[in-house]
Amino acid sequence: MSGGALAGLDEHQLEAVRALRGPVVVLAGAGTGKTRVITHRIAHGVDTGAYSPGRVMAVTFTAKAAGEMRGRLRALGVGGVSARTFHAAALAQLNFFWPTLAGDTAPGIVDNKVKLLAHAADGVGLSPDVATLRDVASEIEWRKVSMLSIDEYAAVRPNGVGRLGTERVVALQQAYERLKDERRQLDFEDVLLACAGMLEAEPQVAKAVREQYRHFTVDEFQDVSPLQNRLLELWLGDRRDLCVVGDASQTIYSFAGADAGFLLDFDKRFEGARVVRLETNYRSEPGVLGVANELIRGRPGALHLTPAGFREQTAAEETIPTVTAFDDDRDEARTVAARIGAQIAAGADPRDIAVLYRAHAQSAELVAALSDAGIATTVLGGRRFFDMPEVRQAVMELRAAAVAPLESGLVDTVRDILRSRGLTDDPPEAGGALRDAWEARAALLRLAEEAPAGTTLRSFTDELTARAKTHDEPALRTVTLATLHAAKGLEWEHVHLVGMAEGLLPISYATTFEQVDEERRLAYVGITRAGRTLSLTWARGVRERQPSRFLREIGNGTLRAVGASGRPGAASRSAARPSASARVDGGRVRR
Ligand code: ATP
Ligand code: MG
Repeated sequence: MSGGALAGLDEHQLEAVRALRGPVVVLAGAGTGKTRVITHRIAHGVDTGAYSPGRVMAVTFTAKAAGEMRGRLRALGVGGVSARTFHAAALAQLNFFWPTLAGDTAPGIVDNKVKLLAHAADGVGLSPDVATLRDVASEIEWRKVSMLSIDEYAAVRPNGVGRLGTERVVALQQAYERLKDERRQLDFEDVLLACAGMLEAEPQVAKAVREQYRHFTVDEFQDVSPLQNRLLELWLGDRRDLCVVGDASQTIYSFAGADAGFLLDFDKRFEGARVVRLETNYRSEPGVLGVANELIRGRPGALHLTPAGFREQTAAEETIPTVTAFDDDRDEARTVAARIGAQIAAGADPRDIAVLYRAHAQSAELVAALSDAGIATTVLGGRRFFDMPEVRQAVMELRAAAVAPLESGLVDTVRDILRSRGLTDDPPEAGGALRDAWEARAALLRLAEEAPAGTTLRSFTDELTARAKTHDEPALRTVTLATLHAAKGLEWEHVHLVGMAEGLLPISYATTFEQVDEERRLAYVGITRAGRTLSLTWARGVRERQPSRFLREIGNGTLRAVGASGRPGAASRSAARPSASARVDGGRVRR
């Protein structure tokens, strides 16, 4: 079925997909098909027999992205490929090889770094507040992904953390490491460090790992840290079968040690690498791209996004991005909820709608407003699907039922069990916890309905268990709420980007030029998630916020100022002051 893997690709995408061997780097803007290239390239390699699926490793940065990757591969008919985060892959290798190397099981994992740090602080007579501890935890993470010793760290970060001078930060870090050793635990970054150390020190382990995995791809490579890059090099050894894709304009983890230099220098580090550039954006309406282009124009490495031809004809007034100002946060949240209600009433699938924001704390008001409007939501990075009590319970009961031979078919059995626990034909009217539980059960039933014919209850529950382990979560029929960080790589037809105000985006603590630039890239990531409509909103709030400088930079002509009621220029009280940065422009798109 090589037709499947090569179908639906433009000529540049095809070039990358056909380059099955050797180093390949795809440098391209948002929505140009980078992730599509990675998945089709793997499928093409498997179809042509160039790759055996078990030897392919597709690395991602988040469990959500790994799940997406597996989903897209499944859709292309490819199974058996490892799609994992750096962390999951490293942890699996550690757990596998540790017993033979050390004669005992691998250490446990620190589940709460800040808590452990608090204990460590106690031990050395320090008692910083929780916020300081959190900042020290981030410093530890940054130090480790940058592969610095504590001494090297102290030399490059002489300013301390909050009221703690560098000397104390160092003492605290040392105490933290000691305590962790005593408890025989590793933290998140240690897992990568320990795996890299194992591969460096144990040639037979490196050999076995390299035997297992031969073809590597990394999505979102602009966000790779020195430590992750080191691990990748160790996995590769002296081979060169590596394909990386990325967009420097979407680097949003440099605060945590990511370095887009690894992407931009790729062809220097891998001589003879094939460099592919993708020019066409297939995701977004021209109006959305106009806003994105304005925001990133002139930044180093910025790529101009050009809409795919078919989009031109659909450019319509309603797809010109809007901006709305509010008096307070609650007004903003309620109006966004009302707009989403209207989109769903007009036929939009809730799964195609997202509300994006800079900081987790902004989600509470939004969840409440959406719940009041009877709209079910999923908060990305919030509670995990397979950890929901309703889901755990259902999986347990399904497992129990799988022991006896089935009297009815899979779908009927699953439906009966879910019904006995409260699954009704129609969802409850209101939002809130009950509704969330209903959506979760409905999603489980859909998984059963989508299972291939002949699936037994036993293999269905095995599949559920496997998905739970890899955090491969089904898409609920809900509106997605996500931070800009969590939204990277994903896409929705309708995006509501809230909190476009100074102090929120850019966030208050971004003060240096570099930090503000990273905030700009975050806004860029958010904007480029939108396929059809994009609404930008902000509220003055009790802190008397100003509109985000990014709105000003996007400037006149690319945005449409809309009142809270949704009508252009509607002079509702809260929109009587449309942001200084946006102007009604007769609905023209400026590109
Ligand atoms: P991001 O930078 O946001 O991660 P990306 O470059 O990875 O974006 P994809 O997610 O792979 O882009 O693709 C964006 C959208 O465009 C997807 O919906 C994808 O299916 C679609 N797409 C990509 N290439 C084509 C094509 N040649 N024809 C039609 N649709 C395409
Ligand atoms: Mg992508």
